[in-house]
Parts: sequence; C-alpha cells; structure tokens
Amino acid sequence: MIYKRSSALFSAAQKVIPGGVNSPVRAFKAVGGDPIFVKEAKGAYLYDEDGNRLIDYINSWGPMILGHAHPAVVDAVIDKAKKGTSFGMPTEIETQIAALAVSMVPNIDKIRFVNSGTEACMSAVRLARGYTGKDKIIKFAGCYHGHSDSFLIQAGSGAVTFGSPNSPGVTQGTAQDTLLARYNDIAQVESIINSNKDEIACIIIEPVAGNMGCIPPTKSFLKGLRALCDIHNILLVFDEVMTGFRLAKGGAQELLGVDADIVTFGKVIGGGLPVGAFAAREEIMNHLAPLGPVYQAGTLSGNPLAMAAGLAMLTELNENPNIFKSLADKTEYLHKGIAKALKSHDVTNTINRVGSMISVHFAKDAVVDFDTAANGNNDTFKKFFHGMLDNGIYIAPSAFETWFITDALTYEDLDETIAAVYKVAGDL
Ligand SMILES: *Cc1c(COP(=O)(O)O)cnc(C)c1O
Repeated sequence: MIYKRSSALFSAAQKVIPGGVNSPVRAFKAVGGDPIFVKEAKGAYLYDEDGNRLIDYINSWGPMILGHAHPAVVDAVIDKAKKGTSFGMPTEIETQIAALAVSMVPNIDKIRFVNSGTEACMSAVRLARGYTGKDKIIKFAGCYHGHSDSFLIQAGSGAVTFGSPNSPGVTQGTAQDTLLARYNDIAQVESIINSNKDEIACIIIEPVAGNMGCIPPTKSFLKGLRALCDIHNILLVFDEVMTGFRLAKGGAQELLGVDADIVTFGKVIGGGLPVGAFAAREEIMNHLAPLGPVYQAGTLSGNPLAMAAGLAMLTELNENPNIFKSLADKTEYLHKGIAKALKSHDVTNTINRVGSMISVHFAKDAVVDFDTAANGNNDTFKKFFHGMLDNGIYIAPSAFETWFITDALTYEDLDETIAAVYKVAGDL
C-alpha cells in the first residue's frame, strides 16, 4: 500500500506537534515506520488520506464498539450541537445518562462525569484517600490508569514494593505513595498490605488487564483482592475505562461476579467523544464537593455533545444486550482462525481473550502478568504488524495493546483478517 500523503502530513505535524502526535503510541515508535493519517471512517473500516481502506481493530482504542460514525450517535451529537455546545450549567441530559449508567452497572448509586479516563482514575483515587483518610495506594505493574502522576510508576529492579517514577516530572514523594504489585499474585498483595498496616486507601486494578495486551485475572485473584480489602478497610477500585460497557452491560463486575467499591469509566461511555466517569455507592460519592470535602471539578464536564454521544451509545447497548454475546462470538471466531493460521506456520504464540478483548503474544509461555507479557518476541510482532497493515488490517502499533473488536465487523471481515494472518505467518 502507498502512504505518500500520510508521510507528508506526518512531516508537517512534526514541525508543530511534539513527535507529530497528541498521544504517544500513535507515532508507531514501537513498530517503526510513519503513522497513518485517517481521513474518515464508517462501520468497521478506516479510510486513510491515501485512499486505502483498512479493517480497524483499534476502534479509537475502544469507544467505537458499534463501529465508526454510528447513526444513532452521530445524529444525537448533531442535534445537540445546533442548540449550543457548552453552558457550564446543569442540563437534563446529564441526569439521563447518569440514571442509565447507574441502572446498568452493579454496586453504584451515583456517578460523576469528567473528560477522560485519566481524570476519572485520578479523581477516584483522591476520593478513596479522602474517604478512608489514608494516603497509599496499590497498583499493578503493567496496568495503565491514565497519565496522572501517581500512576506512572513501575517496578524498579528488585524494589517491587517501592515505586520509582516512570517519567521525569513525577516526584519521588508522589511515587512513594504508590506501591506496586504483580498482577495475579495475591500473596504479594497480602504481604504489601501487612507491611503498610492502616496506610492503604485503595487498590486500583484493571479487572481484566488490557494495557499489557489482554491478561485475564484468575478467579481467585479478584476474589482474594475483595477479601483483603474487606478485612483491611481498603477500597477496591476497578478501572473499567476499557472493560466498562464492553465486557457486559455491567462491565467486568458483572462478567466476573466480583464487586468493586469505586468504578471508573472512559472510552465506550463517551461514544467517541471525550468522556470519563467515576461511580460508587452513595456513602462514598457523597464525600465529593459540593456535598462533601473532596474537591473535583471541570469546566467542560458533562458537556452536552459528549453526554449526547454517550447517552446514545449506552442506550444502544442497553436496548440490544445481545451485542455482548455477538461481540464475544466474533472474537472467539477470530481467535480460533488466527491460532490455526499461526500454527500452520509453526509460529510460537499465546493468544489471550476475554469477551471482545483479544491479544496475540508471540511468547511461548502463558502470559499472566507484565513480566510474562514482556517475554514476547517484539521483532516478530513488528513483522506481524506491518504484514497485517500491508494486507489492509489495522491492529494496535504495539505488542502491549489489546485489540478492540467492534460489532460492525462481519464474518467476511473476520475471514479476510484470518486470510491475512495465513499470508503474514509464512514470513514470521
Ligand atoms: C485508556 C485507559 C485509561 C486512560 O483513559 P484516557 O481517556 O486515555 O485518559 C485509563 N485506564 C484504562 C484501563 C485505560 O484503558
């Protein structure tokens, strides 16, 4: 395929935007080459600036679960836009989407809307600290909760329990309040809690990890976290920015049958507009300003266009609950097809899948945490990525990302994708 215009646009962008992009993974650093500039999209397809058609497996990193330019969402936004785009005053639609979200998701009475998943997670942690009166938090290596300071912490060599900043600009003081644990390792979480008695406000986790590729939790792991939180008076925060309104109407809580204390949302809840949200039972949410002392605010929070897109999206999902089964079936079909294609060329791989999240790891052993995800062969991934792209299939430009399946994909699209894997696998 030819990407002449994309490359020219990227050169121009680099002069005025750092790295030419407004979010780093878009720049293709992990796979090499220039990013593709998209012109428009409809359903399961992207059309780039050079006129190529690509089958999209990123879907704006999750939000377009029903496909691009979905008529219900687009119409809702257009109607609203004609009536004014922002007021900074309460509007009825905020209550409508809040009531719908509360009715769909278990264990939440109230929800507050913000503008991104980052804001949602950052605010959830502040609320957990304000509610419990404790400072420290536990997060898991390889889980992403947005780019706010307390989350940009990774395990330094050996020092698993004391975080060191992952980015210049994050202070050591902030990093020290974030304790790191290994995903799926309950014994380690228990020992961290025991050595920080009465200091931990919350444990924040992606209930199905999606930011180190897709990694399912073991059943006993999430149940174990719930039990530890109950014993030690710690809040369990499920970051459902990726899984919320994707794995089920009620997200991972519903699918996996584990209750969280605070839940964060993003991606699907905004239907493709900038929306995040956090929610909990009433006694916790009432600690937020203006009812309580924990401050949180936003000039554009609850923006009418964003709420219109989100409400249209959630309404579609609420009224057509078969979508989740349909998504899971398509993802399973894809999983089987890709596994067969890779096997036909003896390509070492491990495929993880939960609902409509799936990732192909070029690793021999089971991928259960960040270290085992990092064992994957990145050179093989790069070849796979570019091979798929040459065949018109757009997957995330990093081995550490899940694929986001959209219900707009037809079985013909899936067959086309699997046929591409057969072609590409011969060269891996
Ligand atoms: C995408 C994501 C975020 C961050 O959301 P933004 O809207 O990009 O700020 C947080 N948590 C998880 C699990 C995510 O996948």
